[in-house]
Amino acid sequence: MAIDPFMVGVARLRRQLGATAPVDVAALFDPDGHLAPISPGESYVPVGDEVHFGGILESIPKGIVASGLVEARWRGECRRCAGDVGGSIAVDVRERFIEGADPEVDDAYPLDDDMVDLGPMIRDAVVLELPLAPLCAEDCRGLCVQCGSDLNEGPCGCEAPVDPRWATLDVLRDPEGG
Ligand SMILES: [Zn+2]
Ligand SMILES: [Zn+2]
Repeated sequence: MAIDPFMVGVARLRRQLGATAPVDVAALFDPDGHLAPISPGESYVPVGDEVHFGGILESIPKGIVASGLVEARWRGECRRCAGDVGGSIAVDVRERFIEGADPEVDDAYPLDDDMVDLGPMIRDAVVLELPLAPLCAEDCRGLCVQCGSDLNEGPCGCEAPVDPRWATLDVLRDPEGG
């Protein structure tokens, strides 16, 4: 049976309060496919991509504190031109793992049998950092609303849309129209 790299034994660390140990783990972000992208336009960690956590674990009463840096890559779709866009995330985390904790109420992750599962902390941190509406570039010109051409590749030749307020004036001025 494969061992989850995010499961870390802390029995030895917990023998002495205040003791610290380095931690450096990497594992698949979404091994079960549960976090796969829900809809186009959102960003996601590519299936098969690993996320990384490097930091320290410190022994505290009833548990440990994990602090360090979570790193991942993401991909998505530009919200203006729908082109591929990607980037990386690097976010500092500092979270407690406490015996019998319930993450819903305790503001801490659980610690059971002197094992901590760093996975939920790491995945939560990544999900919070994923851009909601990514852009391929700050000045992406997007797609022409009339013909759909990618305006980053140059002008499409469409006439600028007529402002409806001026369209009314055009009708008034048109000798045949009025
Ligand atoms: Zn774009
Ligand atoms: Zn156009």
